[in-house]
Amino acid sequence: MCIRDISYIEEVSGGDRGKYVEKFYLRCGASVLLSSLARNILDRSLTGFEFASGIPGSLGGALFMNAGAYGGEMKDIVTEVRAVSPDGSEIKTFTAEEMEFGYRHSILQENGGKQEGGHSHQFEWKTITTPTAEMDGLEAYACIICGYYTDSVPVSAYSYACTEGAKQVLAAGQNAEITLKMGRWCSYPRWFMEKLAQRRDLTIHLQFEYLHKQYEVLIPAKMPMDTECEWYGPLKLCNLYPYTIK
Ligand SMILES: Cc1cc2nc3c(=O)[nH]c(=O)nc-3n(C[C@H](O)[C@H](O)[C@H](O)COP(=O)(O)OP(=O)(O)OC[C@H]3O[C@@H](n4cnc5c(N)ncnc54)[C@H](O)[C@@H]3O)c2cc1C
Repeated sequence: MCIRDISYIEEVSGGDRGKYVEKFYLRCGASVLLSSLARNILDRSLTGFEFASGIPGSLGGALFMNAGAYGGEMKDIVTEVRAVSPDGSEIKTFTAEEMEFGYRHSILQENGGKQEGGHSHQFEWKTITTPTAEMDGLEAYACIICGYYTDSVPVSAYSYACTEGAKQVLAAGQNAEITLKMGRWCSYPRWFMEKLAQRRDLTIHLQFEYLHKQYEVLIPAKMPMDTECEWYGPLKLCNLYPYTIK
């Protein structure tokens, strides 16, 4: 069947216009462009493929690398992949699990999907995306050879900002004056304040954004620190210490 510029797309189940369907299956040729496929799916008033509409390339390329955007990945929607070996001698159907989708990875990247002759995975926890104070990172239990991973945990930008701030405090020279640039993070847990309390020789300028304004809280050296509360928000900090607003 040929719809618009799509070379091969076959409706497998459901999808009558105006009829609610729980799940809808399409079988497509790998040369279909993601943008065309997204358009086709949208035309049927179906949802689930929006994430891929702006990713350039074909369905085959997207499967090969488990393409993704806006929190969606091919692995979330693919149920089955039928592949032909490069020499045309073998046809194999992979289940979604057998595709071994990981971050920008699939089994197709390993010797054309043939496990024999490929490598045995060697898993280690490693950083896939390094967090910053602005953006979450990702730690994954990943193969050090091909990057395929089976488990992952996000590392929040917030915890990164607090941990780096605490490290900066503990590493500062004796009696130093330091500035902690906490960006948009303006509430701190008790453990963070306890780290600051360990270094009462320091003068600490705590900078953060609150309600679109830049705050700077000054924690003078030697001044006793409150560590009784679970959390220290911007208003509490401004009650406890001198501050300026820019
Ligand atoms: C401007 C820009 C923005 C991008 N944004 C994103 C993004 O947001 N998210 C994201 O994940 N990626 C993104 N990409 C990467 C892009 O999605 C990939 O380059 C694309 O998925 C590759 O598909 P392709 O059809 O161009 O494959 P090609 O580049 O032709 O091939 C890529 C690999 O896939 C293999 N391959 C291709 N087709 C098949 C097939 N039918 N069967 C088996 N193997 C096949 C090829 O052998 C090759 O190894 C972006 C790229 C650009 C240039």
